[in-house]
Amino acid sequence: MIVPFIKGFANTFKHMFRKPISVNYPDEKVPTFPRYRGKQVLMRDENGLEKCVACGLCAVACPADAIYLEAAENNGTVQAGPRYAELYQIHKTRCIFCGYCEEACPVSAIFMGKDYELAVYSNQDFIWDKTELLVAAPGTPPASQAR
Ligand code: SF4
Ligand code: SF4
Repeated sequence: MIVPFIKGFANTFKHMFRKPISVNYPDEKVPTFPRYRGKQVLMRDENGLEKCVACGLCAVACPADAIYLEAAENNGTVQAGPRYAELYQIHKTRCIFCGYCEEACPVSAIFMGKDYELAVYSNQDFIWDKTELLVAAPGTPPASQAR
């Protein structure tokens, strides 16, 4: 009867001197694996213009029907080409983070990012739009700091 107790205490004692594997989250973040697929990021080109040409291939490739976008004519101030995505949304409860949108994009405008802090408190926040997906324009604070 005493043997299980001794085994248990010995196990506890053994772990007391090992390096802890827990981190002080959220002050300390857990590093992600190189191929981790988190929240998507919409990219800008070297001139700070949006790379997305609103072709819709990502939406077609998406197996979860999570992407919705609306194209608009561009006057050169938003995108280098003739069209840009006036509206670009990803439904976060549908997305399965497969990465097909990234693979389908012909201009490398969308990438799977590393952000894993995706919990929200309201169903109003179930959709990511460009304010959350698009990288900040040069000289402007990131969207998270602008709010
Ligand atoms: S990661 Fe997959 S499921 Fe999510 S938006 Fe892209 S294609 Fe759709
Ligand atoms: S993100 Fe890429 S694939 Fe999707 S609409 Fe924009 S350019 Fe096309």
